[in-house]
Amino acid sequence: MTSFSTIAQPDAEGLRRAVEILRADSVVAFPTETVYGLGANAFAEQAVAEIYRLKNRPSWNPLIVHVATVAAARDLAAAWPEVADRLAAAFWPGPLTLVVRRAAHLAGVGADNDTIAIRIPAHDVALALLEASGLPLAAPSANRSESISPTTAEHVVRSLPDVPLVLDGGPCSWGIESTVLDLTTPVPTLLRPGALPLRTLRDVTGSIALREIETSDGTARSSPGMSRRHYAPRAKTLLMRDLREADRSGLPAPSAILTYEGAPPPPYGEMVEVLSADPREYAADLYAALHRLDDAGAASILIQEPPRAEDWLAVRDRLSRAAA
Ligand code: AMP
Ligand code: MG
Repeated sequence: MTSFSTIAQPDAEGLRRAVEILRADSVVAFPTETVYGLGANAFAEQAVAEIYRLKNRPSWNPLIVHVATVAAARDLAAAWPEVADRLAAAFWPGPLTLVVRRAAHLAGVGADNDTIAIRIPAHDVALALLEASGLPLAAPSANRSESISPTTAEHVVRSLPDVPLVLDGGPCSWGIESTVLDLTTPVPTLLRPGALPLRTLRDVTGSIALREIETSDGTARSSPGMSRRHYAPRAKTLLMRDLREADRSGLPAPSAILTYEGAPPPPYGEMVEVLSADPREYAADLYAALHRLDDAGAASILIQEPPRAEDWLAVRDRLSRAAA
C-alpha cells in the first residue's frame, strides 16, 4: 500500500527515517544523477535479499555498491589498479562504475563473485545518505526487473508500490544508467555503455575493449548481467530504421511514436514524443518519455532508430533492449 509518506523530502527528518530503515536491513529508494536507486546495506544478506525480492531481480544479476569516498571503494577491493585511481580522480563522483577484484573478507552482495562493481554517485542526497548511514549501499535501479528505470520519485512508487521510503530529489540529471567498466581485464573492458561516453573515458584510459555490445546488423548482444529484454515499457515496442515504412495494421492500437529532432517526420500524429538530437539530452528524457507514453495508454510504441554512431551507444543499447 502506498501512503503519502512513502515519498519524503531529503531533509533531516527524511534522512533520519531513511537511515533507520537501512540500519534495520530494509530498503530505501534515493535519487542519483543517473536514475533512482533502490538502496540497502551492501553487506547485510537480508537487506540485499530484500532488493532482489522487491524488484523481482534474477539472482544472477549482481549489484553495484555505492560509496562516498575513494578510500571506501578501495576497502572493498582486493586489488586497486593504478587506472582505477586515474578514473576515480577524473570521474568520481559521477556516472562511472568500476569492476575490480573483490576483497576476500566481504560477505553480502555478490558473495559468490570474485569481483565487485563500485561507484561514487554525484548527487547530494545520495552522498548525504551514504554519509549519514555510514553504510556502503547496494543500489540497482528502483523499478521492477526488466521495466523502465525511474527518473523521478513518482516513477519509483508506481513501479514498486511496496517500497518503504523514497527520498525525493526531483528528476535525475543524466537519466540513464552509469557506464560499467571492467578493470580486471588486461585492457579496460566496457560491460555496459552508459552516461559517460567512451570518448571521454578513453582520454584517461587509452583504448577500451568492447564486448559485443552491438553487432553490425544493429542487434544487441547481452553483456554480463544484462538481459536481452530490459528497460521495457508495457506497450509493444518496435525500433525502426525509418518510421515511414511502418506497417501499423498488425500493431495494437493506440500506437505512439518516439522520435528525435531532425529525424524524418513521423507518418502519423497522435501521441508523438520528440526528443533532442543531442544524445546526452535524448538520454536524459528517454525513460520519462517512455513512462509518459505508457501512462497515456499507448498499446504500441514505434521508435525511430537514432544514428549508428558511438555517441549514441548507450541510448541504442537501451532502445534495443526496450524493443526486444
Ligand atoms: P543495475 O544495478 O541494474 O543498473 O545494473 C548493474 C550492472 O552492473 C549490471 O549490468 C551488472 O551486470 C553489472 N555488475 C554488477 N556487479 C558486477 C560484477 N561484479 N561484474 C560485472 N558486472 C557487474
Ligand atoms: Mg536496472
